[in-house]
Amino acid sequence: MLTDDERAAFLQSITRVRQRAAQALRQAQGADGAVAFIAQLHRGVDAVAEQARATGPQPACQAGCAHCCHLRVEATEPEVFHIAQHLRAQPPAAQADAISALQRHATTAALNPASPARQACSFLVDDRCSIYAHRPAACRKAHSLSVQHCSEQSATIPQNLRLLVDAEALMAGTTLAYRDRPLPASAHELNTAVLAALTDPAALHRWYQGDPAALGPTPAQDPHTPNTPQHS
Ligand code: SF4
Repeated sequence: MLTDDERAAFLQSITRVRQRAAQALRQAQGADGAVAFIAQLHRGVDAVAEQARATGPQPACQAGCAHCCHLRVEATEPEVFHIAQHLRAQPPAAQADAISALQRHATTAALNPASPARQACSFLVDDRCSIYAHRPAACRKAHSLSVQHCSEQSATIPQNLRLLVDAEALMAGTTLAYRDRPLPASAHELNTAVLAALTDPAALHRWYQGDPAALGPTPAQDPHTPNTPQHS
């Protein structure tokens, strides 16, 4: 739990990020420019994760460890279109494989609508992320200080609070800057949303026109509204 002072600093940080990002987004050219801007958030989250590793407790995460890739992952519209553009630039066979994997994921998820099983992300290939350079901020922020907690599927995963606070401020501030533009930015289930973006060529245009349902129904609960990180 943050102290009152820490919470005030967290909210101020969101405001600073929002103002900087809104200014930069105003310069972005067209839908592609607005999508490409999301890479700035990703570089920022990578930087705070690197800083946390350099100064704080060491994450237990290692390449090939993919416990957190079996949990629900959410991404905003620009992140989803960023991934879809990357996949569309791949050879046709790779695109077809990606769509097949996303459709299998959707089918499996539909079989467990009430209590979804722990399902591997469709981008997880041989326990590695196949879209690592384009993965969403939620994946870049995710970490654990204890492999045991992850393998036991513990409800509470020990994490570095500094990393969480800094990453959440970047994510929330950037989301609010997109909304200021105004462009829809809400949290969507990653696999479902990327499938929608890949199979509906008009989705990007609708998003850029401000359609909040460009990638499907908007979520009832939006975790990108600033939430205060807490120790787990
Ligand atoms: S996008 Fe990559 S890092 Fe994120 S859950 Fe999927 S496989 Fe894991």
